[in-house]
Amino acid sequence: MKKHNFSAGPSILPREVIENTAQAVLDFNGLSILEISHRSKDFQAVIDEAVALFKELLNIPEGYSVLFVGGGASMQFCMVPYNFLEKKAAYLNTGVWSKKAIKEAKAFGEVVEVASSAETTFNYIPKEYTIPTDADYFHVTSNNTIYGTEIRKDLDSPVPMIADMSSDIFSRPVDISKYICIYGGAQKNLAPAGATFVIVKDEALNKVSRYIPTMLKYQTHVDGGSMFNTPPVLPIYSALQTLRWIKKEGGVVEMQRRAKERADLLYGEIDRNKLFRATIADPEDRSYMNICFVMNDEYKELEADFMKFATERGMVGIKGHRSVGGFRASCYNAMPLESVQALVDCMQEFEKLH
Ligand SMILES: *Cc1c(COP(=O)(O)O)cnc(C)c1O
Repeated sequence: MKKHNFSAGPSILPREVIENTAQAVLDFNGLSILEISHRSKDFQAVIDEAVALFKELLNIPEGYSVLFVGGGASMQFCMVPYNFLEKKAAYLNTGVWSKKAIKEAKAFGEVVEVASSAETTFNYIPKEYTIPTDADYFHVTSNNTIYGTEIRKDLDSPVPMIADMSSDIFSRPVDISKYICIYGGAQKNLAPAGATFVIVKDEALNKVSRYIPTMLKYQTHVDGGSMFNTPPVLPIYSALQTLRWIKKEGGVVEMQRRAKERADLLYGEIDRNKLFRATIADPEDRSYMNICFVMNDEYKELEADFMKFATERGMVGIKGHRSVGGFRASCYNAMPLESVQALVDCMQEFEKLH
């Protein structure tokens, strides 16, 4: 039976990315990608092309560096304030990942939480708030992987922005010039787990007065070309395959078109089907990447039945996060429309039984 991978992360990758990675494990210029030096000429070519494609696909202006490091997006929660927070920083609290970022930042200076949707289980994106003009930066989580809300555009801010784009990178064009730093774990939209990407504005670095431990200092990785220490070689190789795939398919504009097409199809069915409702009411706030829905109150007791029904038809990873319940269909860049259609078919068949 064909399986449809709606996992939230690690998650679906284009088939050819997996095949090319498997091939390189067996034979990469006569050796395995697993056993070559990260400082070899062959791997230098891999990381150089990955950085170049990052810049090309996201239209990154001059004066920015692209880094691949370890530690996950979670490590960035502390690296960001370590490197950029001198006195005060502003954060928008839109979910679990924002909260974790805020917690770390508090160890480095004053943190202003400009707004929060915590009181309604983060089911919307706050819009009315004031960003202090003396903040060093304004931090947002552009896509809230757990709750299924997304800020699908670049906000306006009186201070430079920093964004956690772990789960929506390369799903739309981004105005990089509004940001001094964009980061994310690679395992949602780019590569297998193990690599973290960071886009950083060079001239925003080295402005804080504290000592920054060598490995946590962005400048270290800028100077070392992501080779200060051993970078995650295999995930970077896979990331390169994904970046090539995105380019071949038509770039981020095409990724955005596909994301909207998938989201329109699935939210359309959730809204139509009498059994289900979306957890995010405002269409503007609905994530194109993580589509969350629950059983309507009068059908609540059917939840386990639908899970079994869908699983028997090849749906994988649609269980909602434990803090939200219900269902979450993660539809990252590599997700084919046919898989979303298969889920929709499943929902319609199940509706007919009830
Ligand atoms: C998954 C995720 C993280 C955590 O990433 P790790 O690489 O596991 O540390 C952080 N932020 C967002 C938005 C995520 O989706």
